[in-house]
Amino acid sequence: MLVMLILANSIPLLAQEQTHSSFAVHVVQRGENLFRIALQYNLLADELAEANGISDVDAISIGQRLIIPLAAESAPSGRTHIVAAGETLASIATANEITLDALLRLNNLSLSDAIFAGQQLLIPPSVSASTTANATEATDSDANDEAITQPTAPAPFRHAFARVGAAPAVFAHAVKSGDTLSQIALRYQQTVEALASANNLTDPSLLRIGQRLTIPGIQLPRLTSDLPEIVSAFTIDPLVFEEGRTGRIELLTSEPAVLSGQFLGQELRVIARDGGRRHNILVGIPMFSDMAVYPLMLELRDGTDTVFSITATLQVVSGGYWRQTITISDDELVAPAVEDAEITLLAGLTKDFSETRHWSSSLDLPAAAPMNAVFGTLRSYNGSPFDRYHRGVDFAGAPGTSVLAAADGAVILADRLIIRGNTTLIDHGWGVYTLYAHQNETLVQLGDAVKTGQVIGTIGSTGRSTGPHLHWEVWLNGVNVDPMQWVRQTFP
Ligand SMILES: [Zn+2]
Repeated sequence: MLVMLILANSIPLLAQEQTHSSFAVHVVQRGENLFRIALQYNLLADELAEANGISDVDAISIGQRLIIPLAAESAPSGRTHIVAAGETLASIATANEITLDALLRLNNLSLSDAIFAGQQLLIPPSVSASTTANATEATDSDANDEAITQPTAPAPFRHAFARVGAAPAVFAHAVKSGDTLSQIALRYQQTVEALASANNLTDPSLLRIGQRLTIPGIQLPRLTSDLPEIVSAFTIDPLVFEEGRTGRIELLTSEPAVLSGQFLGQELRVIARDGGRRHNILVGIPMFSDMAVYPLMLELRDGTDTVFSITATLQVVSGGYWRQTITISDDELVAPAVEDAEITLLAGLTKDFSETRHWSSSLDLPAAAPMNAVFGTLRSYNGSPFDRYHRGVDFAGAPGTSVLAAADGAVILADRLIIRGNTTLIDHGWGVYTLYAHQNETLVQLGDAVKTGQVIGTIGSTGRSTGPHLHWEVWLNGVNVDPMQWVRQTFP
């Protein structure tokens, strides 16, 4: 579910936090009515009227600020999936980042059972599929002695924006199935004792699903300047950014304007729509970003060339990735210089920002094959520090299985690389790129335009790979990000 917040000038949100898990503030625009606004937030007009003490639903005025009560996070113990035509148990498991086994067990199914379109399946909470890894590339190669620890997943949470000068709002982690206090502590770089004490837990082994734990030291987004009048909504999603994942910033202005900005040392690429009234920023948070609070600096230039500065602070937290220790013989070790050179090449190519978007809202899976390694797993080779990570998602497909374009785009690299083997890189526009590695053969050439689902190659084991599989990466403005977020979520 979308985590969203919108804030407007000087609205004290904190007093409301006791009764709802999150809020947005909506500034009524010309032409809007309560019904249309309610629709926008998945609410009934009556609910919206009640939350704002409005007795006559026709009596709202332009500029009026409405409190939008956002629904609480759905029960984290699981959800349902309605089978669509063409889906298989394996593809559903993959798309939900769960093991096939877990899906079968929860639904009391066996592999030979037929499923039909429209059938409801229970989806267990996401667990990493890494433990089922078998065919992997050299950087996960010969992982005989691999030990995987620290299984954590992104925490769903919602909270209101703290206003300047207000008491700090409290960051809460919603406990999910399988969470332990020590895992949560690791995730937020806390000690178990500190967490237990902050939450008055007498028995740290007793957690219940859905319980909200206060995490000391985590700061919610915070405006450190005034919002100019021209800004009608400002959204940051999610409320703290995670290393290796994509964050979104959206600003709506009441008149055409030009937005620019910086975050984490990156010059932000701004997507301007609606005649310069809607400004979207997609931010890839680099892996190994320090867990800290960073300034977000935006500049808005209106039609009269007046420049407004908007500053805020945003916290970056750990992505909660698994750790993997790998023991391999020295001659199998890939020289870091070789790996780094390849990454530098790809980062350079994917820093270009094409103004035309070719993807519509999310990415398709690149192969009809089970996923067997997730993004972000931190790796230590022969006892080295955990300073390498899995930059993509792996799909275990038989040699010759089709590799499919995840979205429309243009091929900007089709080449044989040392580590990634036969590699295709597709530019989808607006800074979004997908990469397909270890292919047996590539069926497209540099400069080709491709369509979503087009067969662009076949699965193989070229480059530093120990078995046939597709290694699939997503790059956003020169930063490697978690591809599965782009399959599950819609952007911008
Ligand atoms: Zn891989």
